[in-house]
Amino acid sequence: MRKHNFSPGPATLPAVVFQQAADALVDYNHSGLSIAEISHRAPEFMQIIEEASALVRELYQLPDYFEVLWLPGGASSQLAVAPMNLLGLNDSMAIVDTGFWALRSIDAARELAQVHVLASASETHYDRIPKDWTLPADAKYLHVVSNETIEGIQYHQYPEVDIPLVADMTSDFLSKPLDVDRFGIIFASAQKNFGIAGITCVLVNTKVLPSNSDRKVPTIFDYRTHIQNQSLYHTVPTFPVYVALLMLRWIKAEGGLDEMQKRSIAKSELLYTEIDRNPLFEGIAVKEDRSVLNACFRAISPEIEIQFLAHCSKNNVVGIKGFPTVGGFRASMYNGMNIESVELLVDLMKNFKPEL
Ligand SMILES: *Cc1c(COP(=O)(O)O)cnc(C)c1O
Repeated sequence: MRKHNFSPGPATLPAVVFQQAADALVDYNHSGLSIAEISHRAPEFMQIIEEASALVRELYQLPDYFEVLWLPGGASSQLAVAPMNLLGLNDSMAIVDTGFWALRSIDAARELAQVHVLASASETHYDRIPKDWTLPADAKYLHVVSNETIEGIQYHQYPEVDIPLVADMTSDFLSKPLDVDRFGIIFASAQKNFGIAGITCVLVNTKVLPSNSDRKVPTIFDYRTHIQNQSLYHTVPTFPVYVALLMLRWIKAEGGLDEMQKRSIAKSELLYTEIDRNPLFEGIAVKEDRSVLNACFRAISPEIEIQFLAHCSKNNVVGIKGFPTVGGFRASMYNGMNIESVELLVDLMKNFKPEL
């Protein structure tokens, strides 16, 4: 029996996508070969990666000057690779400290350039997005963590600035339509909203790539290398790209990004309504910044928390324990999560009777 998996990532995907991926792993399109043994340069695979890129382009309506890259590894690498590509040795970038993934990017960027931390939500334990700050004149770009996966806070409106945004969208990529023109770089590892672990999709606005920089970017980390080679400079993790293609086809067939957004809002409203109604639980983030992908909440006592986790696991609901720094619960509801699973979680909250 399939469990209802609220894990923050690797996350659940639609059952049909897992089935298609499993079939292709045994025999890809009746070719007599597994998808995993086909060369990344074979025409069969080139078709896969081209279709995947074309679907990202179509879903986000990317202008020509955007390139779609598929790079091995997770979004964490891009926290270093993006500043490497965009900043000269004496340049600076700006960032708002919104939580765990902002802190990771601050650390990564500081190894390469100057970092202006414009504001921090640390004093309120990262329960909100700081909005009151001023941009220094010398910042080349503003790094935003579109959705702070661990603390469950999300930009519902991106900051209005006249420099490009570089966005870590790992936990809300392909979850809503976007005005991409404001972005220099957008990146997301696949295992949350659109696939399995192993690859990161990077959207590069070629207008922001500096034409001459005093930094010598190693060839393997240079976005231009991968643009020139259509992401096939080296062996891209082929199976994860194939799974991403299956998810992209699924997203398009289900109605595209408008529909993904509608569903995310519906799923999260259902859950937050119960969190706010039920006297045994309380939300962690301030309402206006609550993430529609990761809902963080706690029970009114640690004993009740233990009992509720047991109640969930008895009913096949898994993956909702919060990250240690935040505690409580975190229900992650990415593109692959059914509303039926959220309805079940809400029912479990409603009929939960702690033993006191
Ligand atoms: C999960 C996550 C990452 C890290 O991705 P890896 O694939 O583990 O490198 C980075 N940023 C955000 C916002 C995330 O949610």
